[in-house]
Amino acid sequence: MTQTITTNNNKTTLAYAQQLDINDPLAIIREQFAIPKQANGEDEYYFTGNSLGLQPKLAREYVIELLDSWGQRGVKGHFEGDHPWMPYHEFLTEQSALLVGGKNEEVVMMNSLTTNLHLMMVSFYQPQGKRSKILLEDHAFPSDHYAVESQLKHHKKNVDDNMLLWTPRAGEELLNHDDLYQMIEHQGDEIALILLPGVQYYTGQVLDMKTITEKAHAKGILVGFDLAHAVGNIEMALHNWQVDFACWCSYKYLNSGAGSVAGCFVHQKHSTNTDSETQVNRFAGWWGHDKSSRFKMENTFKPIPTAEGWQLSNPPVLSLAAIRGSLDTIKMAGGIKELRKKSIKLTQYMTELISSELGDKIRIITPSNQAERGCQLSLMINVEGLDGKAMFTALEENGVTTDWREPNVIRVAPVPLYNKFQDIYHFVRLLKECLQ
Ligand SMILES: *Cc1c(COP(=O)(O)O)cnc(C)c1O
Repeated sequence: MTQTITTNNNKTTLAYAQQLDINDPLAIIREQFAIPKQANGEDEYYFTGNSLGLQPKLAREYVIELLDSWGQRGVKGHFEGDHPWMPYHEFLTEQSALLVGGKNEEVVMMNSLTTNLHLMMVSFYQPQGKRSKILLEDHAFPSDHYAVESQLKHHKKNVDDNMLLWTPRAGEELLNHDDLYQMIEHQGDEIALILLPGVQYYTGQVLDMKTITEKAHAKGILVGFDLAHAVGNIEMALHNWQVDFACWCSYKYLNSGAGSVAGCFVHQKHSTNTDSETQVNRFAGWWGHDKSSRFKMENTFKPIPTAEGWQLSNPPVLSLAAIRGSLDTIKMAGGIKELRKKSIKLTQYMTELISSELGDKIRIITPSNQAERGCQLSLMINVEGLDGKAMFTALEENGVTTDWREPNVIRVAPVPLYNKFQDIYHFVRLLKECLQ
């Protein structure tokens, strides 16, 4: 480990990056993924795992296995084979629970992210008297904003009066937690629900989910998190933090394919509550009904006393098969703890290389403190008169896939499952070239 060759101590060299890859215990996991190719046949430098994760080879294998089971068995595939469809979502529970720090009873894969946000708000946004507001961030992902707005309208609430927005201070990009805590302190008894991201999609900022939940609960406010950019990226402990609910998609850091089935966490204290006074309401469907009596086809809904009790329909198993492939790949890498260790090193290396090579041209708006960021860095281009969009396109022509957000931010996410330190080296080299 310590036999570093002196010439490689220069962090700006390719040799240094190569050495980091040689010393990386997770490097081998990249072979488990299909890596898109450049026109010249070389691997792309892929940094958009925060938008669409790459395909795990196991996802393909499990989907084909499922198609074969369907072809060979027809309806009997529900109950036969190594992975029958009837309990298929249960094969995903344990690994999903580990990713978010929930109990197995608190996690289920179902529907899509925005659908789950709505279902959760049906249960956890129950305006009463003057406690009628929902607090969210000002620049939430549009789907989350629309979902909140339409829930307010559904309850016949005036949107302007009841949507409380947490906004960064003038001239700043990041959210300041003190401002949120002030709102909770002073307007807490008017707030019914706080809905925030675990990791903000634009800046990559990690929010302090634990403290936010504590402070909100002290004022009688329920708390839900959108973990689209947090799951598979950072470590979480939703159960211990007492978070009421959370939702996430599975196609970003969970690499399960576009539009794949989403995840949902409901704290046990809610799913096991059978007290008719305080029990949360829900939109129900037959798949949330007690498994032992589901096929008696009776009219009395008896919810499963776990997160599964919020399921509506029998799930799209082809998508679940892809998720199983992805979760098995994450398990192979040693789980989120190991991934996070590498992720910190990747992102740290990227920040160092950017500041030494491009410090005057690029400003990183993502927090510099490791605890406040996941793998993503959001780069703001600080060059007068430069067409950022043109530069993004130039990067693409050189085999670098990044994500461009108006007005001038490039988001790059080095992902510990499949990105190499050398990818980062080449990214910074090519960015430097494009900026000249
Ligand atoms: C990716 C993302 C979505 C997308 O929602 P879908 O319902 O999966 O289309 C929603 N919210 C956030 C915060 C996201 O990052």
